[in-house]
Formats: sequence, structure tokens, C-alpha cells
Amino acid sequence: MRTGRASALTDTGRRRMQNEDAFVCDPPLYAVADGMGGAQAGEIASRLAATALEERAHDLLGEEAVADLIREANDRIFRHALADPTVAGMGTTVTALLVDEEAGTVAVGHVGDSRAYLLRDGALEQLTADHSLVAELVRSGRLTPEEAEQHPHRSVITRALGTEPDVEVDTFSIAAAAGDLYLVCSDGLTSMIGDDQIIAVVDEAERDPDGIAEGLVRAANRAGGEDNVTVVVFEIVEGAPALLLEPDGPTAEAAAVAAAVTPDEASPVVPAAGEIGPGVEPVRRHGAGSGGRWLALAAILVALASAVVLVWWGLAR
Ligand code: MG
Repeated sequence: MRTGRASALTDTGRRRMQNEDAFVCDPPLYAVADGMGGAQAGEIASRLAATALEERAHDLLGEEAVADLIREANDRIFRHALADPTVAGMGTTVTALLVDEEAGTVAVGHVGDSRAYLLRDGALEQLTADHSLVAELVRSGRLTPEEAEQHPHRSVITRALGTEPDVEVDTFSIAAAAGDLYLVCSDGLTSMIGDDQIIAVVDEAERDPDGIAEGLVRAANRAGGEDNVTVVVFEIVEGAPALLLEPDGPTAEAAAVAAAVTPDEASPVVPAAGEIGPGVEPVRRHGAGSGGRWLALAAILVALASAVVLVWWGLAR
């Protein structure tokens, strides 16, 4: 088996001003991080996590490697927050899938309430268990899944990266099979649409990852778009392993991004979520950036119109 097509998309949604999600779509690693914290701290936390994962993913394989990557990300975010009081308390979820083509496995590492799903033989299986308040209440029988969906505190997570010096990481491995479709997503998708709708989008897109990513983001926004929504999709296909280890990988690029995400430079311009993996195709990003440009253009036009009116008024007097 080997990895086939992949696609990733992130969107601010319809209610939020900023996108605090980040993703990695860089074979053999696929991951989503959903940041939290005041001002731009959430964006910094999720981006630090994505960068830490992407930098070292190319020379690693297996469950322990995923756990190590996530612990390294935790360490970076925690130290960054210690050094900069303006982002104290920032944190992020992370759900990361690392494919080992030789072994035919997908190693999963997970903290928080972003999720990984496997679509196999038409059935959608949630692979990760949410580290959230409502998920724990459901597991202990004190809340039904239906009550959890409507619960006012459904976005409260019980485990995050960056808030403590150490983090407990859930890890496990899946025996991959040709035809598998893996989906990694932030809660902005799963709090808006259910399993049936996810399957319907996959069918409608005829399993094309680009179409699936676009369809899922569109469906989440149509359902209200109350949160940032991020989707990473990849397929496993027949064939000999194709990935080569790339110890040099994107390290220099990723380090440059990490260096750019300092608190001083992060305000007011923060690198966009989709820009974690520059040059990685097909990684696309919709939304967040273009709104700002149109606002700026509108402001300039309004200023020009005001100037014309003032001059005309002055001449008319
Ligand atoms: Mg979220």
C-alpha cells in the first residue's frame, strides 16, 4: 500500500473573525491543530504545533514517533507562553496521523477534541476519543450523545497542548488497507454536521479528496459555520511504497515560519493557517485572508469618495 491523493482546507467559518486552526498535509504526516487563547494566542499555539510536527515528521515512523512529535510541540508552546506573558495560557488540540507505507500502518497521536475518522467499505468510524468535558460525561453515562451535541460547554476540552510542561498523548495504530479514506478535522466540522452528512459529501465528491474537503467546509458553513473549520483528507491506494525519507525535508522553511511567529511580529499580521506548508500541493486555503483585502479596498474607496465630495463642496462655496 501507499498514500494516494490528499487535500486540505481551512476556513474561518461564518461567525469568527480569526482562524485559529492550522493543519499539516505533507506525506507521510497529516494533522489538524485547533488553537485557543485570547487575542492571537490561539493562532500562535496551533501554528507552533503544526510547525513542530512538520519539521521532524520526515525522518520518523510509528506510534512512539508521533507521541514524541506531539510532546516536542507541547514543549515549544509551553516555553513560548512562559517567555511571553501576552500569550500565557494559550493551547491547542492536535490530531496527527503518520503513515508507515512499509509496515502498512497509520499511527495516530491525539490530544483534545479534533478528530480522526476512517471511511472503509462505506462505513465511517471515529478513530479518536475526544478529550472534552461532554465526551467524558457521555463516557461515564451522565449525558447522552444527543444532550452532548446541544450542551453549552461542548467546546470545553480537558486536555490540550501547551498549557502544562508535560502532556498525556493518546496513541494507537491502524492496519491500513487500499481503499481507506482518512479524515482529520477540527470540531468546527463535527459540531456542525453529523456522520451521515460526512458520508453523503464523500459520495457526492466520488471520493476525490479536493471535492471532499471543499464539500465538508461548505456543509459546515451552511449548517451555521459557528467555528473555524479545517479538514485534511487522504487516501490509501494499492502499490509499492513510494515515500522516501527526507531528512532535510522542509526543516529550513518550517524553522523560518516558526521564527516568524514571534509575538511582536504576530501582531497585527499573523501567517495564515494554510501557509504552514508552503509549496505543498494540493494544500489550499479559502476565506480568511481575502476578507481583509476587500475591507482595505473598500476603506480606500470610501476615503477617495469623501475627498471628492469635500473638494466639490469647497469649490461650490
Ligand atoms: Mg474549534
